[in-house]
Amino acid sequence: MMDDWKTATKLVHAGARRSQYGEMSEAIFLTQGFVYDSAEQAEARFIEAGPDEFIYARYGNPTVRMFEDRMAAIEGTEDAFATASGMAAVNGALTALLKAGDHVVAARALFGSCLYVLDLLARFGVAVTLVDGTDLGQWRAALREGTKAVFLESVSNPTLEVIDVKSVAEIAHAVGATVIVDNVFATPTFSKAVALGADVIVYSATKHIDGSGRCLGGVVCGTKHYIRKVLEPYLKHTGGALSPFNAWVMLKGLETLDLRVRQQAASAQAMAEALAGNPKLARVIYPGLKDHPQHRVAMEQMGAGGTVVTFDLAGGQPAAFRFLNALRIAKISNNLGDAKSIATHPATTTHQRLPVEQKALLGITPGLVRFSLGIEDTGDLIADVMAALDAA
Ligand SMILES: *Cc1c(COP(=O)(O)O)cnc(C)c1O
Repeated sequence: MMDDWKTATKLVHAGARRSQYGEMSEAIFLTQGFVYDSAEQAEARFIEAGPDEFIYARYGNPTVRMFEDRMAAIEGTEDAFATASGMAAVNGALTALLKAGDHVVAARALFGSCLYVLDLLARFGVAVTLVDGTDLGQWRAALREGTKAVFLESVSNPTLEVIDVKSVAEIAHAVGATVIVDNVFATPTFSKAVALGADVIVYSATKHIDGSGRCLGGVVCGTKHYIRKVLEPYLKHTGGALSPFNAWVMLKGLETLDLRVRQQAASAQAMAEALAGNPKLARVIYPGLKDHPQHRVAMEQMGAGGTVVTFDLAGGQPAAFRFLNALRIAKISNNLGDAKSIATHPATTTHQRLPVEQKALLGITPGLVRFSLGIEDTGDLIADVMAALDAA
């Protein structure tokens, strides 16, 4: 019956499990272990646990399972596994699949910690090739017979390059590679990742899914085989499990995800349009603007430009800092997807670790500001940014 529900309905109801009390709100099963009726039952459960049977919270927990089932329903995958953070999800998705001698091709415009995971894999003998993710010719040249996996952020952080997931998946599948997509910036609301050909979809739930800046969390969505036979053994033995309390926070976050994300994206579109052509800005980057290099791809694969606008102050770092310090509503921080608007200076914070040449290659200039739209009044936010630009 759930299969024909729309996303907004699934976000509220999918995966719900009720105890004998018939509670309305999802229960928090804050328990690490489970009690067996007999030694025989314990033995049987360790051989094979049924769908409503749990062993230990590192393997699974009823509240966590509700979150996993809801995410799989929304994303349209057979199954999902929740993790302690987005990075536990990225690391698990890649490491569980790969071994020494395997080859991975990844888009070079990645979140700093994602690049770190690829460096780590290289240390253990995985060959990693980085490409310009927006250039299909580079994907074609890098992928070879036997390439095991492709990894990309569907919209890159912080410069909002949009990768044509459908075309990359076609190239990857032709050589049998598994396509792993970090879909944080697309959000589950705008995601069509399965239809585009992604095999494994990863979210940091810390971002839009929580949406109120409370908990870390992550989730990997994929086929039953990949989730239970490839990923689960790795995660359950290496300890990246999501806390049941955090899973409950994420379930509550999902209930309002669609409302928040649509509002945030509408504000982002209005903000980008208001900023376009401003003489204090060298660039305004937003996939919803017609002049964005991948505008057409963004509209096809998300139907919206997303919830983040990035812009480059012509006055460089001093102007960017003056701008940040003059904001009154938006907060200076480094999360995104929060109900509160957040402004970030990537070059000195989230991407500080990168060598100067790599920052230049990725377009992370000294004047660049990443602005994550919250759910405040759109007009108030635009006024806040315009006043801060005047002060810059
Ligand atoms: C934040 C983020 C992550 C990591 O998520 P955490 O929950 O902070 O571990 C991974 N990928 C992208 C694109 C992100 O924005």
